[in-house]
Amino acid sequence: SRQFTRPLNDLANQFNTLLSAIAGAERVFEIIDEEGEFKEESRLQELSKVLGDVVFSNVTFSYEEESKTVKNVHLHVYPGETAAFVGPTGAGKTTMINLLSRFYEVDSGQILIDGVDIANVKKESLRKQMGFVLQDPFLFQGTVRENIRYGRLEATDEEVVEAAKLANAHSFITKLSDGYDTLLSQDGSGISQGQKQLLSIARAFLARPSLLVLDEATSSIDTITELKIQAALQELMKGRTSFVIAHRLNTIQNADRIFVLDDGQIIEEGTHETLLEREGFYYQLHGKSAASF
Ligand code: ADP
Repeated sequence: SRQFTRPLNDLANQFNTLLSAIAGAERVFEIIDEEGEFKEESRLQELSKVLGDVVFSNVTFSYEEESKTVKNVHLHVYPGETAAFVGPTGAGKTTMINLLSRFYEVDSGQILIDGVDIANVKKESLRKQMGFVLQDPFLFQGTVRENIRYGRLEATDEEVVEAAKLANAHSFITKLSDGYDTLLSQDGSGISQGQKQLLSIARAFLARPSLLVLDEATSSIDTITELKIQAALQELMKGRTSFVIAHRLNTIQNADRIFVLDDGQIIEEGTHETLLEREGFYYQLHGKSAASF
């Protein structure tokens, strides 16, 4: 039987490696923190399967003492809705996701999922209910099959293939030299950025999370793969509460709620139409770059 290689024993490390553009040294402290919190974690409750009702209640957070990164944020996203975070670089979009995933803890206020304060639940049980599709997907040295199965370790081979089909990844996988047994390197050399995304979408389908976090790619992906990604994501997001760090107008237009962030605050909230009517910050952002944010 094949030994499953699990290079990282904590999803947090994975996420930090991926999403946060933080310095290596800070990452080490994060990992130490995680271990330091282990005992305390064991006393926290398990988060049972959620519907995906998410509330940020008066949330404030700073990475460093001098400056607040998130200021008195209040938001409510209902089960199955798609929420888009838009705003300039440095506005705090990624930080919002870091807080929701508890890669950082809020300084004050609460984040509630189905009414439960996430500060009181085990991180693992929180993250088990979250799927991540990020700009630069996390891959490890192992086969394509193992990389997809990372989404749910007990999934059968058939379920892996089924997830790959849902993710529009099956056709490119079967064209690889060894199909699902093709060995990937940690940096995923040999497959394209877009194909890496399709694999991470397959992984998310397999995981069946209630909450999704999508960090849309800003780098160019060929048109055909891009269409496959879009179609797969649309399917994946159905019935799941999704938080998108959105760069594509199409995604934003289809979002149930758009939160416009600037300097750590939600300065506008609404749908694409209501925000345009307002002729405020969003309107200006939109005007500046009609096709993307
Ligand atoms: P966005 O995703 O909207 O571009 P971020 O959430 O990444 O914004 O960043 C918000 C602010 O927090 C920025 O000023 C950024 O420099 C700062 N920041 C982000 N990560 C860290 C960190 N690990 N340590 C200190 N400051 C950070």
